[in-house]
Amino acid sequence: MDTATSAFGSSASPAGLQGVVPRLTRRVAAASGKTTTATAPFTGASLAELPESSADDVAAAFERARAAQRSWAALSPPERAEPFLRFHDLVLERQREILDIIQWETGKARRHAFEEVYDAACGTLYYARQAPRLLRPQRAAGAVPGATRTYHRRAPKGAVSVITPWNYPLALPVADAVPALLAGNAVVAKPDTQTALSALWAVETAIEAGLPEDLWIPVIGSPGEIGDALIDNADYVSFTGSSPVGAEIAQRAAGRLIGFSAELGGKNPAIVCSDADLDWTVDGVQRASFSNAGQLCISMERIYVHESVYDEFAERFADSARGMELNADFDYTADMGSLTYRKQLDRVAAHVDDARTKGAEILAGGRVRDDVGPMFYEPTVMAGVAPTMDACAAETFGPVVSLYRFSDEDEAVAAANATDYGLNASVWTRDTARGRRLAERIEAGTVNINEGYGAAWASYGAPMGGMKRSGLGRRHGSEGLLRYTESQTVASQHFVGLGGTPGMSAQTLSTVMTASARLMKRFRIR
Ligand code: NAP
Repeated sequence: MDTATSAFGSSASPAGLQGVVPRLTRRVAAASGKTTTATAPFTGASLAELPESSADDVAAAFERARAAQRSWAALSPPERAEPFLRFHDLVLERQREILDIIQWETGKARRHAFEEVYDAACGTLYYARQAPRLLRPQRAAGAVPGATRTYHRRAPKGAVSVITPWNYPLALPVADAVPALLAGNAVVAKPDTQTALSALWAVETAIEAGLPEDLWIPVIGSPGEIGDALIDNADYVSFTGSSPVGAEIAQRAAGRLIGFSAELGGKNPAIVCSDADLDWTVDGVQRASFSNAGQLCISMERIYVHESVYDEFAERFADSARGMELNADFDYTADMGSLTYRKQLDRVAAHVDDARTKGAEILAGGRVRDDVGPMFYEPTVMAGVAPTMDACAAETFGPVVSLYRFSDEDEAVAAANATDYGLNASVWTRDTARGRRLAERIEAGTVNINEGYGAAWASYGAPMGGMKRSGLGRRHGSEGLLRYTESQTVASQHFVGLGGTPGMSAQTLSTVMTASARLMKRFRIR
């Protein structure tokens, strides 16, 4: 399979994509006939007309989803896993089509679009294989040993909202919806409007793989119109996006006493130790900083480098950033693509201009590249960034990193932790034990050693998420599945009642229970 060429012919026009738009949009819950437009970041041209949902459409979608969920929840976990095993295969088989759609919607380089394809397939496979085990009922010690038989089981929440942003439009909806579905829930999914086609492709592909209709229903619309309905009708909300919006949604979910998980922003630090292998580190930090043009919640924006290697690292890293190929081609030649939104380009340019004006040194990049496409920005490396500059502590979410020199590890750890965020971090050293010691001192939900983000992210069996203002709850691992369940304890009493034998006085009962409590401690029964 040649995945390095467009499935839709000419890479200069989105015309070929028009053929798939009706197929993908037909499942959107939108009755009004209103539409909204997505544009192509590579060209600025109109890309697709998308149906827009109203708050009533969202409420109706939840009703349909709840009706479908009842029979879905009655299937066994291995039965629910079957369509997802096929989904894994279809995603890999049909990657050419979805790679094009992702590139058209986001403007990202094909190599970064491929990370989404790989992630959607492998994350799904992890849960399809592990959900039956993770959902199995568990026995627990009973109230009276031998006389109380207790187990607890996981029941689905019901109908779950999955709200996702534009930066990973295939990987994120799949990462959050698939475990919810495998746990026996239905999902109403709201992708970002600009990048909705990728999420719609995932829904369509899952249904082709055998997922029953109405279990994964997409809605499209502005937060002002459908945001509240997505919380008010749901039994649980999974949100990925910015920290301020996450806090707003958390408040509304708290008002209804429903569960909520949030994967939010980051200002992620890398620590380059004196013993780092610089060939490996320059290459790895470059990927960690400029993947998806830095529009990656777990990408590195602050690089702390030991003074003994700072000058060499800075020179080589800036050289590597300058050497990166930027283009809008539908093949694997670009090292970095475009930004997705004009507002994102403006934010990136504002952070760099502010830093430049206030005295930061631009070691590489620092310019809009509208000669390549309307929203391209150069991979940018800065030094001398001070706390008065916006790029110092606020999330830039673009291809911009700042280098800082440190002289001892305590100083590096304190600087890495001096932020409200705590999503991801990385440590670069030849000594893994030293890397682990440092990692455990960093306040971040994931820390990668000698890798920027992929090692922790793609360890699907381990939890992934943020500390501090970077999130609440975790995706991946058992937590990523079990968040979508209620635990229910079932205990049956046999032989001896909790009130003692018939006719036993309260005083005798208390004496027997006191003695049994002591015996249980002595013989380690409790
Ligand atoms: P955002 O503005 O918070 O939006 C995220 C999603 O929420 C979009 O679908 C958005 O819809 C929707 N939304 C916004 N307000 C809402 C409301 N009141 N009720 C319901 N839904 C609402 O974030 P963004 O700018 O699109 O995404 C970038 C941010 O996401 C960055 O901070 C990045 O770090 C973070 N992120 C985190 C992770 C992670 O795993 N931790 C992963 C990716 C991105 P519209 O698009 O229609 O406005």
